Amino acid sequence: MAKPSEPTPCPVCGGELILRRIGDLKVIEYQARCQACSWAGALRVLRCGGCHGDHLFEWTGEAWRCLDCGHLRGSSPPRPQNPEGG
Ligand SMILES: [Zn+2]
Ligand SMILES: [Zn+2]
Repeated sequence: MAKPSEPTPCPVCGGELILRRIGDLKVIEYQARCQACSWAGALRVLRCGGCHGDHLFEWTGEAWRCLDCGHLRGSSPPRPQNPEGG
């Protein structure tokens, strides 16, 4: 199982992502931004049916994609991005 403190690689360039926790107690979701290529997107922790276990999924615009194995999962879309202070 992945440790929460483990750096998460950028899906585009493999650089280190800065994660900001959003969501609530039931949904673990992050706003992620890459320090290297300035990619930004939503990541959510979901149970993966491909590699099994709880993994980070990237929002593709239509579905969530596992960063580890590429497995696609349908689920509710990410929360709208809040301005500072939310
Ligand atoms: Zn990147
Ligand atoms: Zn997976």
